Amino acid sequence: MPPQLTPLHSLHHVRLPSSSSFPSSTWDITFETNGCIKALTPTPTTNDTSSIQDTEPPLVLPALTHPHIHLDKAFIHSDPKYAHLAPTTGTFNEALTSTTTAKRSFEPADLLKRGSWLLAESLANGVTALRAFVEVDATVQHTCLDAALTLKTHWAEACKIQLVCFAQDPVFSGPHGGENRRLIESALLRDGVDVLGSTPYVESDAESAKRNIEWAVQTALAHDKHLDFHLDYTLDPGREPLVWTVLDALRRWGWTGKSTQKRVMLGHCTRLTLFGEDEWARLAKEIAEDELPVSFVGLPTSDLYMAAPPAGGGKNGGMATPRGTLQVPRLVREYGLDAVVGVNNVGNAFTPWAAADPLGLACLGVGVYQAGTRADAELLYECVSTRARAAIGIEEGGGAGVTVGVGDYADLLLVYARDDTGCDVVARPRNSVAEVVWDPPSKINRDVIRQGRLMLSPWVSKQDGVYEFV
Ligand SMILES: [Zn+2]
Repeated sequence: MPPQLTPLHSLHHVRLPSSSSFPSSTWDITFETNGCIKALTPTPTTNDTSSIQDTEPPLVLPALTHPHIHLDKAFIHSDPKYAHLAPTTGTFNEALTSTTTAKRSFEPADLLKRGSWLLAESLANGVTALRAFVEVDATVQHTCLDAALTLKTHWAEACKIQLVCFAQDPVFSGPHGGENRRLIESALLRDGVDVLGSTPYVESDAESAKRNIEWAVQTALAHDKHLDFHLDYTLDPGREPLVWTVLDALRRWGWTGKSTQKRVMLGHCTRLTLFGEDEWARLAKEIAEDELPVSFVGLPTSDLYMAAPPAGGGKNGGMATPRGTLQVPRLVREYGLDAVVGVNNVGNAFTPWAAADPLGLACLGVGVYQAGTRADAELLYECVSTRARAAIGIEEGGGAGVTVGVGDYADLLLVYARDDTGCDVVARPRNSVAEVVWDPPSKINRDVIRQGRLMLSPWVSKQDGVYEFV
């Protein structure tokens, strides 16, 4: 069941992010009836604060975002129906095969149940907008899409779901290529589909992969949809990177930031980690000079799990097991590219580990990218929040960086310091974005506001003096 939402008039005595670890002042935030922020004012010192309990003021941040998450194959491992499909080798090919087998058993009730798990956990973590992938092909036809459209409607009050009609299977090779393509094209005609997704690397040869890219660009443009590629998912230096083919197709079809509001996302792209400085510079130059609305999404939990070099690791029995994943902060800072990070898969053979928590992902980024400064943490927070929203073309939520401002949609995450240890000690507050990223708070310490309406979780306190309801 989607959560209950209660309209708010304002927040009182809250902290806003500051470059300082210990912001001294607190603020009041007032909401418009349309769900935007009307005013931000310092909490008056002369106010009667007798209603405010002796607790740390919560830190208010922009809400979180999933820029890339698979809705239909989430939590396959949590359903006994699929217990026989648990990984035995952990390889990518096994994941593709076992997931295709699981897909033959997908049915509406099962899809709605697992999809609701994903949405409920995401919301509890602070996610109020997501780009959700559902597969459309000869195996599932429109079954996953039907369930996703139902979920999109049921959960619309609580979160913005941008739906991707996703070709995980080949559309120009294999026995079902043509049928897969026709099913995708008919899915794009349905109300509620926002994005065309495709996976050129699953085609049987490079020529088919390039046809896939050409078709996807042309088709997304013709249907006025965003476009999202799973691209260049290899660490084999012998495989030709297809990112150049994508940029070339965008140029030839005139897909620029001036010609359309629709955007193009490139996911995984682990092959690009083998690029030298010259290739990165060329990539950044082409995207900037031709005004291509291209963003990159790093998917580190999946990449760390299975993006290994083709030899499979160390030589002569050694245990060196290098991994490759897009170095997102360096893309942003050194090359001026737009890049974000996404959870991708949860609870399935592609990624059996980790949670549907963007903050956990930002935390992982500190280690993976060796990004330990406070500024790094703030950039990582952007990558799972405001920057992610902009990258997928969602206006709702607004704002930039890690701040909230007047006129932004009031999609907010409030980080509390409620004792979740049971040890009856004063809970340790998180006073800055960096502390939130370095050690993400538990769900009990995350209150979520969607367009000025508070989600009533079991641990929300209406008596702590923070919330003033309409
Ligand atoms: Zn994916």
